[in-house]
Amino acid sequence: MPWSERQTKMLHEMGIRLWQPPPSEPDAAVSIPEAVAVETAEHPSAVAATPSLGDVATLGWDQLREAVTACTACGLCKGRRQTVFGVGHQRAHWMIVGEAPGEQEDIQGEPFVGKSGQLLDNMLRAIGLGRAELPGVEGDAAAARQVYIANTIKCRPPGNRNPEPDELARCEPFLIRQLQLVQPKIILAMGRFAVQSLLRSSEPIGRLRGRVHQYQGVPLIVTYHPAYLLRNPEEKAKAWDDLCLAVATAGR
Ligand code: SF4
Repeated sequence: MPWSERQTKMLHEMGIRLWQPPPSEPDAAVSIPEAVAVETAEHPSAVAATPSLGDVATLGWDQLREAVTACTACGLCKGRRQTVFGVGHQRAHWMIVGEAPGEQEDIQGEPFVGKSGQLLDNMLRAIGLGRAELPGVEGDAAAARQVYIANTIKCRPPGNRNPEPDELARCEPFLIRQLQLVQPKIILAMGRFAVQSLLRSSEPIGRLRGRVHQYQGVPLIVTYHPAYLLRNPEEKAKAWDDLCLAVATAGR
């Protein structure tokens, strides 16, 4: 994909060096199996978790959103203003998975808002993607350009603390169902907890980024969370490399 003058300028403003991805052929859409085990060695306390994957495995978008809104499966329900479900195209080719809602997400009910959301939007815009519906763009063209964004955890941990393993496990069926419904062609996992949930890996992001992983047959790229990039702007160049790898993998 050739970089426009506008994209180049935007990347320059972000302090990101430009790298031209190699051309590749588009991948075929990959389906995700319905059944995925929830109980794992990493999530031992999920054995009696509610909701279970079976509870949500047949839900459509509206029912799933209602189930999340009403969920009291972990203690995070007590401190939330509202749940943060997800946003974007329901059959997007690209799915972005973040971590847990922060204060602004809790207030607005949308993932990746505030400064980290702006950075994510700038990065996506630089590769021709966005979270908002595009006027006049429909069908597969819309699915190719509008991403779907969801968090691993749907309720804000108090004081923005890290989510506990038990909370991640209890919330995981919702994310799995979102992945099943979207059926993305590529997944961008942003941050440690997204990676832990999707790859079952506790390795640092720095060791996992830079290569193509697989989640249920779907290519998955690991990268830093925008909030981390705001605290560590010298890492933006690596995040840009990760985006370029995702572009090359998705064949855009
Ligand atoms: Fe339910 Fe997830 Fe919220 Fe916990 S974080 S109450 S599992 S929606």
